[in-house]
Amino acid sequence: MALVAGVIRRLDEAVVNRIAAGEVIQRPANAIKEIIENCLDAKSTSIQVVVKEGGLKLIQVQDNGCGIRKEDLHIVCERFTTSKLQKFEDLASISTYGFRGEALASISHVAHVTVTTKTADAKCAYRASYSDGKIKAPPKPCAGNQGTQIMVEDLFYNVNTRRKALKNPSEEYAKILEVVGRYAIHNSGISFSVKKQGDTVSDVRTLSNATTVDNIRSIFGNAVSRELIEVGCEDANLAFKMKGYITNANYSVKKCIFLLFINHRLVESTALRKAIETVYAAYLPKSTHPFLYLSLEIAPKNVDVNVHPTKHEVHFLHEDSILERVQQHVESKLLGSNSSRMYFTQTLLPGAECSSSEVVKSAASSSTAAKGTSDKVYAHQMVRTDSREQKLDAFLQPVNNPLSAGPTEETTGDKVGPPEGTVRPQDAEMEDVSELLETTDLIEMADVQQDAVMPGGPSKSGHLSPEKALPRKRPREDTDIQMEEDTRKEMTAACTPKRRIINLTSVLTLQEEISNQSHESLQEMLRDHSFVGCVSPQWALVQHRTKLYLLNTTKLSQELFYQILIYDFANFGVLRLSEPAPLYELAMLALEDPESGWTEEDGPKEGLAEYIVEFLKKKTEMLKDYFSLEIDEEGNLTGLPLLIDNYIPLLEGLPMFILRLATEVNWDEEKECFETLSKELSMFYSIRKQYIIDETNLTRSQNEDSDSGPPPWKWTVEHVVYKAFRTHLLPPKHFTDDGNILQLANLPDLYKVFERC
Ligand code: ADP
Ligand code: MG
Repeated sequence: MALVAGVIRRLDEAVVNRIAAGEVIQRPANAIKEIIENCLDAKSTSIQVVVKEGGLKLIQVQDNGCGIRKEDLHIVCERFTTSKLQKFEDLASISTYGFRGEALASISHVAHVTVTTKTADAKCAYRASYSDGKIKAPPKPCAGNQGTQIMVEDLFYNVNTRRKALKNPSEEYAKILEVVGRYAIHNSGISFSVKKQGDTVSDVRTLSNATTVDNIRSIFGNAVSRELIEVGCEDANLAFKMKGYITNANYSVKKCIFLLFINHRLVESTALRKAIETVYAAYLPKSTHPFLYLSLEIAPKNVDVNVHPTKHEVHFLHEDSILERVQQHVESKLLGSNSSRMYFTQTLLPGAECSSSEVVKSAASSSTAAKGTSDKVYAHQMVRTDSREQKLDAFLQPVNNPLSAGPTEETTGDKVGPPEGTVRPQDAEMEDVSELLETTDLIEMADVQQDAVMPGGPSKSGHLSPEKALPRKRPREDTDIQMEEDTRKEMTAACTPKRRIINLTSVLTLQEEISNQSHESLQEMLRDHSFVGCVSPQWALVQHRTKLYLLNTTKLSQELFYQILIYDFANFGVLRLSEPAPLYELAMLALEDPESGWTEEDGPKEGLAEYIVEFLKKKTEMLKDYFSLEIDEEGNLTGLPLLIDNYIPLLEGLPMFILRLATEVNWDEEKECFETLSKELSMFYSIRKQYIIDETNLTRSQNEDSDSGPPPWKWTVEHVVYKAFRTHLLPPKHFTDDGNILQLANLPDLYKVFERC
């Protein structure tokens, strides 16, 4: 048996080239990528691609770049011919896409290539055709615009196996759209288009004046583009720069979309993708992914450029450090976007523009079902809170509560806490106010029927007991006002034994205005809320169902007092000042406050103060009868209306209130008078910033006398004011969009964030 040695033959050069080319160009999209990179190298601003049968029959790319000189045309398709690299050292600083002179040559070995091109200074365009890297005939002059058109026909006509592997033109076309779309995004300022031959409509189309985000929108849609965060960072030590756009935590898809350009070349980096996805894992629901477009510029000498042309996976020097920097940056941006997103959405309450019934509907579908709807309540929509739950501290009224109608020596003779434990303004800068108010700081509650809310309160702090409270009787002949036996009225703040029925049209109209303006689902929220805590005297957090809200206590309490003044009109108890406060001195104090806006042109303060006293003295009967604002014959303030039990307004506001009472109230028209007067009173009664001053002072004095609990103002806000919001406030619609009630978080949304933790 003879052993026949196989003959080793040198492969036909054409076959070698074809095999090599097949490795460079594996599918139409590879060819198009190479051709587009040449167009970009030639400084084109318009690149138009036309394909037929997924690029297998025809790829035609027209640009408006610098063109190819006629004398170079015969060698453009030869291997290793390039206009972009002369010396080996240039490899390190290369900034153009191509440099091996391999792309056109490779394509010409597996397809019929025709180049039509015109440079700026050539008189006409020239056309040449190529086969196996060789020009077939000398370039022919022809008509044409500046730029180059590369036509590739019958791709893989001579590579059977490859042609058979690429049977699905639409799959190839999809790949082409993907590649061109990504280059279009990366090259804003350059217009791109891709279409099938014969079609009039392009499947990718970007305009030269469009921004990167515009291009992302036109290629990936609005869902992506509206959730983009711009990113950008650089590090000189690591010699890299990064910029791009990534989606925030609102957006997620099944498969990660990652457009990565390194030195302007579309590449892949599994390491970088994984590094960034690790960051997103904390923000996105399980097995969902972000959209990422990143452009990295890395010192060319640090990038392994000499990889195989089809090896899109890149590696670079300091890879781990750069990945870490990128990770950190992405993390910081995602965190930032979370808070800005919160503020963006919180300016409006969901469904704020809808009518209140619609709001209830949408609230029902987005959180737990509202009463009367049969929507299923999912486990993740349920929260364990009960607005009826009482906290223990509700029964422990702070001894020094400056806002509560505290005990007085006269009424109780019982010294609990410091002697000046009632109303005591403490602003050091307003010494004179303090001095004046020293005389007014003992307030007694009269005409108060004790509310059962604070069983611990009265005995502990020596409040007036129900027996001591004098039943209020205000018989009056006025036909507009009658006596009512029933004391239970929904909007009654301080219950009075006999309630006068108000038939004044002006007051009824004001009541109607309030109820017409009220927002049903906000009212429901206030009624059933669970108090979370005070952020400051002005702001507090409450929870309702699955949502967390930030409420403007100042504005809500102002509205509350206004509504009580209107609904309880002429039915208030009295907070009686133990020592009458002279209106004259109050007016003088107010005029001395720069906030009063007093100028010399207004005349001497003394004269104005006297005028104010005389003016208000003329109104005493009405003020007393309708508003329980009592002024004696000498022009002293002796009583203020009791609007809600256990609440006394901050008396620092008294001088300004008196001044405004005389100057800001419309005394001419009945309805306007009641309205503006109630507005002024409610402003005076509202919870305001100044309570911080009280807190610091009271904390100091409390430390000396008793152990410290929560600051008294906080107790009052929670257990007096917010408690009253439940039953006594009809929130006006404008609270939904003026920032006074803000939705901060919704539990189902938070689950999304925490799902992967
Ligand atoms: P490389 O891009 O690596 O130089 P190619 O084979 O892609 O090699 O292209 C060869 C040469 O042909 C380029 O160097 C360039 O001079 C010329 N060329 C190719 N396409 C264009 C074009 N669209 N506009 C101008 N010149 C082009
Ligand atoms: Mg090239």
